[in-house]
Amino acid sequence: MNPKLSAVKGMNDILPPDSARWEWFEQQVRELMRLYGYRNIRTPIVEPTPLFVRGIGEVTDIVEKEMYSFTDSLNGEALTLRPENTAAIVRAAVEHNLLYDGGKRLWYCGPMFRHERPQRGRYRQFHQVGAEALGYAGPDVDAELILMARRLWDMLGLRGLRLEINCLGHAGERARHRARLIEYFEAHAQQLDDDARRRLYSNPLRILDTKNPAMQQLVEQAPRLLDELESESREHFEQLQALLRAAGQDFVVNPRLVRGLDYYNLSVFEWVSEHLGAQATVCAGGRYDGLIEQIGGKPAPACGWALGIERVLDLLAQAERQPAAQLPDAYVVLAHAPALHQALQTAEALRAAGMQVVMNAGGGSLKSQMKRADASGARFALIFGEQEWMAGEVGLKSLRQGGQQQQRSVALQPPALLLQSLAPAAPSARLE
Ligand code: ATP
Ligand code: MG
Repeated sequence: MNPKLSAVKGMNDILPPDSARWEWFEQQVRELMRLYGYRNIRTPIVEPTPLFVRGIGEVTDIVEKEMYSFTDSLNGEALTLRPENTAAIVRAAVEHNLLYDGGKRLWYCGPMFRHERPQRGRYRQFHQVGAEALGYAGPDVDAELILMARRLWDMLGLRGLRLEINCLGHAGERARHRARLIEYFEAHAQQLDDDARRRLYSNPLRILDTKNPAMQQLVEQAPRLLDELESESREHFEQLQALLRAAGQDFVVNPRLVRGLDYYNLSVFEWVSEHLGAQATVCAGGRYDGLIEQIGGKPAPACGWALGIERVLDLLAQAERQPAAQLPDAYVVLAHAPALHQALQTAEALRAAGMQVVMNAGGGSLKSQMKRADASGARFALIFGEQEWMAGEVGLKSLRQGGQQQQRSVALQPPALLLQSLAPAAPSARLE
């Protein structure tokens, strides 16, 4: 036998029945986006490496150590499996001049790739849903985006997600803060870890984002960007807070919320759960007014978020929320080979009427086919035997009512009769 092959470490197969939860989640997302007028956008999974270096920033976890980058062996082009999608959405918007007639509200869903240490809630291929509002200065769309996420939690029945917000201000304010930070960290140089020491002059704001527990206290007492904000940034932040309050949305201002990517300014936010261990952030986003220009477009403001689907589904699984199983309405048992044509036609007619019909495949005795019918979870077995075939009928056996099972025959013509016998159809994907 050939040796078995397995999936790449940190990259998961999504199998039934778990995949049903994914499908259900994706349906809710599509409905959410419809409610808010966001339109779907799909970009390639592979992009030129410079897009991410320029878009995300050279001194970030992603670009320094997490990207799956390779050289195209045919033309030598530097390519990368997308580690996130905002830079690519902006690339597409600029490339196709999507903002020529005003702002655009867009959403995406798909796999992202980061070379991280796999653990719960952290994978090498993971999946994100994202919403991006391009061309709007906010803070109204900032609030819209946050409330959209809240509505998704409601639709999913998830409770207890905490909203944290912060304001990163503008470049000038960050530059002043940066100088203060460097001064502060220099004064405590002996407490810095290697990453922090390396970033001290290249990107000290990043140090605030450290996951090293030994540095938490140092970071907590660091100078706050909030204290550097001037009136314009302050006003933007205060308006966002007022909008959230008016919408009845609780939040905490977390001055240390800086986000892992370089392109953010003004509003940043995260939705955090207590139930995910170390990987607590479910959804993260903010304003990135400089990115469109950075990627080569005409300057235009923008705001968006991305959520990690695996983390949301982890929460759903913990809440034991699963979609109702989509079981067959009927299972077709073929007890007389010449009836195959009739069986196929009948199955097709029922499917045309919206019924889930599973044909027995791979032959087998009547008994073994009936066993499979039972195991399939179908409500009815449709039995095509010799007698029924000769009479233009099908045997109908209910599989899901307790007690004595009655079998009766139903004429195949007119088909409405059979349909009536099979009704009502099982209700579709709802959570139980
Ligand atoms: P973290 O601080 O957990 O590394 P991040 O700041 O790198 O997150 P973003 O780039 O903002 O994450 O991505 C948005 C969301 O995508 C995260 O909040 C998380 O839910 C999810 N996510 C990010 N990286 C991974 C991963 N490796 N595996 C699973 N989900 C992830
Ligand atoms: Mg990360």
